[in-house]
Amino acid sequence: MSELPYSYEAPASQALFDRAAAVTPGGVNSPVRAFRAVGGTPRFMVSGSGPYLTDSDGREYVDLVCSWGPMILGHAHPEVIAAVQEAVARGTSFGTPGEGEVALAEEMTARIEPLEQVRLVSSGTEATMSAIRLARGFTQRTKVVKFAGCYHGHVDSLLASAGSGVATFALPDTPGVTGAQAGDTIVLPYNDLDAVHAAFAAHPGEIACVITEASPGNMGVVPPLPGFNQGLKDACAANGALYISDEVMTGFRTSRAGWYGVDGVRPDLMTFGKVMGGGFPAAAFGGRADVMAYLAPAGPVYQAGTLSGNPVATAAGLAQLRLLDDAAYEKVDAVSAQIRSLVTEALTKGGVAHTLQNASNMFSVFFTENPVRDYEDAKKQESFRFTAFFHSMLANGVYLPPSSFESWFVSTAHDERAVQRIADALPAAARAAAEATA
Ligand code: PLP
Repeated sequence: MSELPYSYEAPASQALFDRAAAVTPGGVNSPVRAFRAVGGTPRFMVSGSGPYLTDSDGREYVDLVCSWGPMILGHAHPEVIAAVQEAVARGTSFGTPGEGEVALAEEMTARIEPLEQVRLVSSGTEATMSAIRLARGFTQRTKVVKFAGCYHGHVDSLLASAGSGVATFALPDTPGVTGAQAGDTIVLPYNDLDAVHAAFAAHPGEIACVITEASPGNMGVVPPLPGFNQGLKDACAANGALYISDEVMTGFRTSRAGWYGVDGVRPDLMTFGKVMGGGFPAAAFGGRADVMAYLAPAGPVYQAGTLSGNPVATAAGLAQLRLLDDAAYEKVDAVSAQIRSLVTEALTKGGVAHTLQNASNMFSVFFTENPVRDYEDAKKQESFRFTAFFHSMLANGVYLPPSSFESWFVSTAHDERAVQRIADALPAAARAAAEATA
């Protein structure tokens, strides 16, 4: 990357990346980590503490990714680590039921009133995949409505995205997903209730469910317009379909009851991951007890997992959730607001057209002056400015998501020192963004 003006060396990370590329496709185990959108050397991290990550070159960063959301208490929170150590010492997996998974389910259902029952799984992808299967089994219908720009994990039928049109039958977005798998997915523009009504009118009795991110963070942060989620819920109820709110990202992050705690729209099914696992692979789906009763072994819809409800993961998740009281959310919300205003101030001073959007403490910057309401709007931003901005921040010790289509995340551990480091890095990054060319 030495041809880039914002270049600087990360030799240990580069050496690891070279080694990784020999044994792992693209050198990473999840594509966004490869820095393809921004170029340069992905940083291989060796440790995390509070709001900081340290890479294999020994450089410390203020972390604004927080493992893509889970680390809402910061890295290596002592009480979470203690709970994990205590659980590990008792054994790492039993393949039987255990008290930890009951306690985690009780904590989750106590926080979210429409979450009458939950089933624990190991990833957000598994959660949405299983919720869709359950919705199809329960309604005995096949079609699924999703929104362009909403990501629900790499579930075959949900990877489909599509261009404009009221009810586009999606083509697979990736090789390996068959036309049959994508053919039952209807992709609609986000925040467009007319498109939803038109889809129901065009497919009477065929739509099993509408799945939406409770408040999207996977096209950058694009909150639902007032009434959108309620409109989805009403359209589903009127047409015998289930409303699935994907709270994998927002769950236990945007409030103690996730996005449900913000908008109060009652989903039939919900999906969770990230925060509820405390940094371990734990996720869940749940909702109406009469729908969940269709799940094996109570009912006919099959779903299972060797490591589901893993005792170490549930101990971590439970410890994290129990620490997330009202004061914790106030703290995360406050530090998010503080960083948002610093970013806006620096970009405004630098003369960089931008729109900063947030959903509670989740936020992202779009390099466009227009509000972003859907995926098409998001794609109109000047992403090349983000690239320059990103690398300048990285060079000055702030780790941002390596894509302009991702949410930024903060934690209770982001203290004044961390915020000051962000503030110090911003003016140069704003200049880099202003000077960037396509
Ligand atoms: N749903 C949403 C809203 C997500 O943001 C993600 C991941 O980012 C997923 C589902 C998939 O979760 P996982 O990566 O744990 O499979």
